[in-house]
Amino acid sequence: MRPDLLNPLFAPVSALPGVGPKTGKLFDRLLERPAGARVVDVLFHIPHSSIDRRNRPAISQAPRDEIVTLEVRVVDHRPPSRNSKGPFRVLVEDETGDVLLVFFLANHQWIERMLPIGAKRWVSGKLELWDGHLQMVHPDKVLDEEGLARLPPVEPVYWLTEGLYQRNVGKAAEAALARTPVLPEWHEGATLSLRKLPSFAQALATLHRPASPKDLEPDSPARVRLALDELLASQMALVMTRAKFRELPGRASVGDGRIADQILASLPFQLTGSQAEAIAEIRADIASTKRMLRLLQGDVGSGKTLVALLTMASVVEAGRQAALMAPTEILARQHYERMFPLGQSVGIRFGLITGRDKVSERNKTLAALAAGEIDILVGTHAVFQESVVFKDLAYAVVDEQHRFGVHQRLALGEKGEAVDVLVMTATPIPRTLVLTYFGDMDVSTLREKPAGRKPVDTRALPVERIDEVVGGLHRALDAGAQVYWVCPLVEENEELDVAAAQERYELLRQFFGDKVGLVHGKMKGREKDAAMEAFQRNETKVLVATTVIEVGVDVPNASIMVIEHAERFGLAQLHQLRGRVGRGAAKSTCLLLYKAPLGEVSKARINIMRETEDGFRIAEEDLRLRGEGEILGSRQSGLPGFRLASLDVHGPLLNIAREEAKRVLESDPDLQSDHGQALRLLLHLFEREEAAKLVRAG
Ligand code: ADP
Ligand code: MG
Repeated sequence: MRPDLLNPLFAPVSALPGVGPKTGKLFDRLLERPAGARVVDVLFHIPHSSIDRRNRPAISQAPRDEIVTLEVRVVDHRPPSRNSKGPFRVLVEDETGDVLLVFFLANHQWIERMLPIGAKRWVSGKLELWDGHLQMVHPDKVLDEEGLARLPPVEPVYWLTEGLYQRNVGKAAEAALARTPVLPEWHEGATLSLRKLPSFAQALATLHRPASPKDLEPDSPARVRLALDELLASQMALVMTRAKFRELPGRASVGDGRIADQILASLPFQLTGSQAEAIAEIRADIASTKRMLRLLQGDVGSGKTLVALLTMASVVEAGRQAALMAPTEILARQHYERMFPLGQSVGIRFGLITGRDKVSERNKTLAALAAGEIDILVGTHAVFQESVVFKDLAYAVVDEQHRFGVHQRLALGEKGEAVDVLVMTATPIPRTLVLTYFGDMDVSTLREKPAGRKPVDTRALPVERIDEVVGGLHRALDAGAQVYWVCPLVEENEELDVAAAQERYELLRQFFGDKVGLVHGKMKGREKDAAMEAFQRNETKVLVATTVIEVGVDVPNASIMVIEHAERFGLAQLHQLRGRVGRGAAKSTCLLLYKAPLGEVSKARINIMRETEDGFRIAEEDLRLRGEGEILGSRQSGLPGFRLASLDVHGPLLNIAREEAKRVLESDPDLQSDHGQALRLLLHLFEREEAAKLVRAG
């Protein structure tokens, strides 16, 4: 339960004066809260810059193309001639020069009232030179002495969305500040005094009412304070989850190797060094009495699935059950179909649970699972359902876990006695960020790729050359190749994504007839499966897709990847997509079709793609190019992004936050002290209530 003290901040934005249902919807869009923006979202919508109205030069000294505030006397009114659409001009001057104020579609009465001839006024706006004369088009402000006294010297500037204006957001922010309760301090005194940081409420007030543009710079005390708050909340959540896991008793599952060794012997290849190492690390954890919570990181195709299978086999040898969870139906089925035959030859009994099983089959599976007649259950998040009961679950593997939350990881823990958890991710995470997202979770990394992988020939060409690409496909298809064709990702608009894919599908069908398949996110599950399966069975040769194919799908015969509008994809995504080819014996190609002209960042991204296939290096470059938000932004990877902290600037604060979190949790693990109570508020404020739930109410 959220503490009452915070309720005013979690009220809908429409609770703020001046925000009605219509403006409220605009705020939902601006603040990316489709379910309804709250007061706290307005507070955390920090201005991106400010206008300094203290800049008050004499006209002759005033810089061009900058916002200045001039003290002037009104000299002349120059209305447009009758029936002309020209602007109303007002000549103003000081001792050093004159300026024309320009008003299009002006209301003459307003001008007479606001700028009477002879009056002293302050006008604020951008000064430009036009036709040899200084002018200011539509000044932002026209003030008399009284108005000037009320003008905030520095005015915040917010990101907007269509239909919202600076004054709407500014007013909402003011009202939100007024509603901000006085909250007890959650940082240690030393942290604050060392850096001279303001309180939470002061920091917010400073940012929404900056006294100087410096206040909004990323390293200002106010920004640092809020970044530290957000990082502390996330580190608390990580440390608590981890501690909770550790505190739970573990169980030793010791395999004798009889099944795993048989599987190994049946493989036509050797384990890579890093696979062998990861397997050893995981087995040691499983065999110990401590509870495992480990991350297995490895690029696409690095062989994580095999690591999962061989370690699950150890648990089966020990007479217990294991579960493997995939983020999508397609992947769950793929895992199941791959493992099932392997299992049959060595006596592992597999089961499959997805959201779309026939009731009779599902009941059979559930009964077998509860009776211990299934050793390894493969499934989607359907595995979390209450009706799924194991006889003796000891080990759970979560594939591509970013789409699962912390509480689901913990829910898994409740499905069995002392369940060890392995989380597999194919998003290579730069070393500097592992800590941010996983705290001090144990990590195994597959850096090596299996031997014999051929590099993918990556080329970039402008989309105008699409005819050549289609010509090339004719030859490739004749030679037996299969092709992925990924269509543009249009931001935040799935409908448009789908339309683009549909259009490309129809075009390609004109050339290749029914050899072309289509799969996109708006299709029903069964249609999607059918399209994927037809491609997997080599019935369709060209698969037009939106990014639904991104995660994990394995079709070794596919050797060509065409990515349209490659400039719109992030590096991590391009890398994931390319990882779909280069899996079989044939030489593979990745064609990045782009729309010219390319911006600097897009150019750099495409160059990196051509230079390397090392996912970890790509992730580091991505971080360098665009900051962590882009690689690990919630939309791309499913990892939670930060709202106030920006890791390229605030990264060094991470350690401080972590140390604070650890210290307090050591001395007050249930957050019962006053300091602990303040931290509970912090967790709720940043919506880490999953973590807050881990400690006893108090
Ligand atoms: P990931 O899940 O990390 O993307 P997979 O486990 O799906 O990778 O492995 C990709 C392919 O590589 C599979 O076809 C798998 O059989 C194969 N593979 C796994 N380990 C090795 C290895 N050591 N040597 C050769 N091929 C391997
Ligand atoms: Mg995989």
